[in-house]
Amino acid sequence: MPHTNETIYLDHAATTPVRPEVLDAMLPFFTEQFGNPSTLYSVGSDARAAVETAREQIAALIGASPREVYFTSGGTEADNWAIRGVVVRAKGRHVITSKIEHHAVLETCHDLERDGVEVTWLDVDGDGLVGSDDVAAAIRDDTALVTIMHANNEVGTIEPIAEIAAVASARGVPLHTDAVQAVGKIPVDVATLGCGLLSISAHKIYGPKGVGVLYIRKGTRIARFMHGGEQEHRQRSGTLNVPGIVGLGKAAELARLDLDAEQARLTALRDRLIGEIERTIPDSLLSGPPDRRLPNNVHFCFKGIEGEGIILRLDHAGICAATGSACTSSTLDPSHVLLAMGRPHEIAHGSLRLTLGRSTTDADVDRVLDVLPKTIQQLRAMSPLYTPGECDCEGGCSTSENN
Ligand code: PLP
Repeated sequence: MPHTNETIYLDHAATTPVRPEVLDAMLPFFTEQFGNPSTLYSVGSDARAAVETAREQIAALIGASPREVYFTSGGTEADNWAIRGVVVRAKGRHVITSKIEHHAVLETCHDLERDGVEVTWLDVDGDGLVGSDDVAAAIRDDTALVTIMHANNEVGTIEPIAEIAAVASARGVPLHTDAVQAVGKIPVDVATLGCGLLSISAHKIYGPKGVGVLYIRKGTRIARFMHGGEQEHRQRSGTLNVPGIVGLGKAAELARLDLDAEQARLTALRDRLIGEIERTIPDSLLSGPPDRRLPNNVHFCFKGIEGEGIILRLDHAGICAATGSACTSSTLDPSHVLLAMGRPHEIAHGSLRLTLGRSTTDADVDRVLDVLPKTIQQLRAMSPLYTPGECDCEGGCSTSENN
């Protein structure tokens, strides 16, 4: 269904629309200010100045120095570069990660395994939390890198990154964190977190697609990723995507200014949605912790039905939602995140992710709360798998008895 004014878009973890101010900032860099920032004449130096302004805007959002901000083609490249780049330069051949990472991290680690690098895949608890004790126990003398995401893209769990960084740094191991979902939604400060490397993607914060950042703390040993020209201090070659970078910078500036108010507003909407879904829909199981989660993330498993069925019916009612992450929602495999959290296959199949954003209003939440309970009821009425009140998941399930 085309996106109309009546459409309620609740998939902001997949992507966000470019903010009008961001588009306005980008447009001149496609036309009159088209210069290559590596050139010496004024058209080029104007573009170069705009890139440096963007670097400062991003640095201000994450408490970094502009010199530590490196532009990439997005979160995926930032993750690939951080992991491969550190391992290539390190003496050690061991990496620690978790089972709930984004595919950009998972697949990079799998690829390293094919090259003979050993990877420890940490388990998570039922809320999707990685234990810093588990990280400490996994660190070896030959550990080159720990890479743990800041906030999970499916269930919204916020990981204890500062604790994990402390444990890693005590053993002299750098920490990379994929903060693609956290940046712009919760305060992210690289000094407080203590991470050496951090990934950002513009299109998750109302910027354009195809541009991102890898923060690299000064002094971090990392190999260059793209070979070619001298751009980005010869660490990441390629003519810079000036309009994209300008857009990312503007989006970062606006995110920093709006952060506190938007975090409080979305948390209230999120908590209303969660509370009402638990109250009105039997056999619904919240995924992830109720509080230690992103302010815009609502994720449930509904017993006895398929997530795909829910998505199609919601789409018909003008509500865009997701089951699992953007990258896996076209496959029918249950989510690796839910399975790692101990959800049985049949429960994991009935998952629904609603991710709120700047456009989300109280009226949108009302509409979801009107449509969703009926949708679940109708699907269950047709489902041979559903028996009311007999939920076999481990605790926390909102059954008909407690509604
Ligand atoms: N990491 C996380 C946690 C994500 O959610 C995503 C996008 O879904 C990415 C990395 C990839 O970012 P990009 O789409 O900019 O390559």
